[in-house]
Amino acid sequence: MIKNIYRKTISEKLRRKIHIFLRKSHSLFLRGNKFYCPTCSQSFKKFLSKGNGIETRENSVCPYCASLERTRLLYLFLKNETKIFNNNPKILHIAPEDALKKHYLNNPNYYDVDINPNYASHKMDITNINFDDNSFDYIICSHVLGHIYNEPLAINELSRVLKSGGVLFALSLIDLNSAQTVESDLNITPQQKLQAYGEPDLLRLHGLDFIDRLKRTNLKIDVIDYRTNFSKEENIKLSLGNGRRELIYKCVKV
Ligand SMILES: [Zn+2]
Repeated sequence: MIKNIYRKTISEKLRRKIHIFLRKSHSLFLRGNKFYCPTCSQSFKKFLSKGNGIETRENSVCPYCASLERTRLLYLFLKNETKIFNNNPKILHIAPEDALKKHYLNNPNYYDVDINPNYASHKMDITNINFDDNSFDYIICSHVLGHIYNEPLAINELSRVLKSGGVLFALSLIDLNSAQTVESDLNITPQQKLQAYGEPDLLRLHGLDFIDRLKRTNLKIDVIDYRTNFSKEENIKLSLGNGRRELIYKCVKV
């Protein structure tokens, strides 16, 4: 009941700010040397666990910046292997992770969007991107496409607004044991989606054919498991995940 009153009387945007403040305050008690978060450059004795009812990932969430395994790995890849942080390239960041977003805030050509305006600077539906063709040097679209009803249209739109030579980084939850994406009745309940796809708000669980679903005549795609660039000890210290959520699909527009 108290939860309901809290939700009804305080806006989603303010609730989010309160949540972030409390999280950062709590992180002071978790300082230590066992884990290191590259996105906020802080060390902790543990990361927070993340569970969804059928799976719990220990040491998943940075207690300060809330980066996840995939956020930390993508940040390291972008920092070490791309020029995304040089010379203010034009960037479209879809459903932006705060831990990544803060690294672009000095770039006047950075544009973050979400279907929910409480979670980004601009509201946008990625099946109807209101930018001209060939607009962006980089697009970051991490763990979004599995939630989009018309996924092919979203991919067409992402490809359309990418400049020639531009790069789309797409990530998703992948069933590494399944060749095919599982996609069934869109009207199943969140609990059924959780059981079938691993998250209560996913519309499908991508399989190894995610690369085929991304394919367009003008996109050259590489699948990168960037975890392999780090030692076993580094993988543990940075908590870079098990590969199900962290594969980077690098799509270059040719
Ligand atoms: Zn962090």
